[in-house]
Amino acid sequence: MHVRSLSNLECTRLLSDGRLAHLACAKDGKPYVVPIYFAYADGHLYAFSMPGKKIEFMRANPVVSLIVEEWGRGREWKSVHVEGRFEELPDRIGHKRERDHAWSLLSTHADWWEPGALKPVTPPLSDHSEHIFFRVFVDQLYGREAKEA
Ligand SMILES: Cc1cc2nc3c(=O)[nH]c(=O)nc-3n(C[C@H](O)[C@H](O)[C@H](O)COP(=O)(O)OP(=O)(O)OC[C@H]3O[C@@H](n4cnc5c(N)ncnc54)[C@H](O)[C@@H]3O)c2cc1C
Repeated sequence: MHVRSLSNLECTRLLSDGRLAHLACAKDGKPYVVPIYFAYADGHLYAFSMPGKKIEFMRANPVVSLIVEEWGRGREWKSVHVEGRFEELPDRIGHKRERDHAWSLLSTHADWWEPGALKPVTPPLSDHSEHIFFRVFVDQLYGREAKEA
């Protein structure tokens, strides 16, 4: 095997083709990682979630990191590491265009909302649960590829 760095263009191509990321955030010195679906466009990763720990962490500290992987033949792989900044797209005047954009990018996959909307304990119907759209502005991209020699 040998490993090489990916160019910026190769990194953005992998993000455009990718769908699943591991998102890392941190609050009060505690790290937290979860898998999430995303859609990449115009230098941002768009995603959907319900309120919970990751949203609470990212609201407190918007600096995040993501890893997106792609498996090739045998042991071959490519992965991209993103350093970025959480940006919430609230359901308020002034954010409608970005929310609609997030919706249209994510909804190209059937049941795109489901993993972000389901929790082990279903909240009572009387509870108003926000649907949170957010995006991660990409500050830095690093990519690597491992190929059979
Ligand atoms: C393939 C895939 C795609 C997903 N896509 C999305 C998505 O697009 N949007 C989205 O919001 N969520 C998605 N999820 C679910 C996501 O990984 C979280 O489980 C979910 O968002 C709840 O996170 P939270 O921080 O709100 O947790 P909370 O409901 O606040 O719960 C926090 C506690 O539960 C534990 N916990 C949370 N998530 C997990 C987990 N996945 N595995 C084990 N323990 C966990 C943590 O240790 C933590 O202590 C996806 C999961 C998978 C496997």
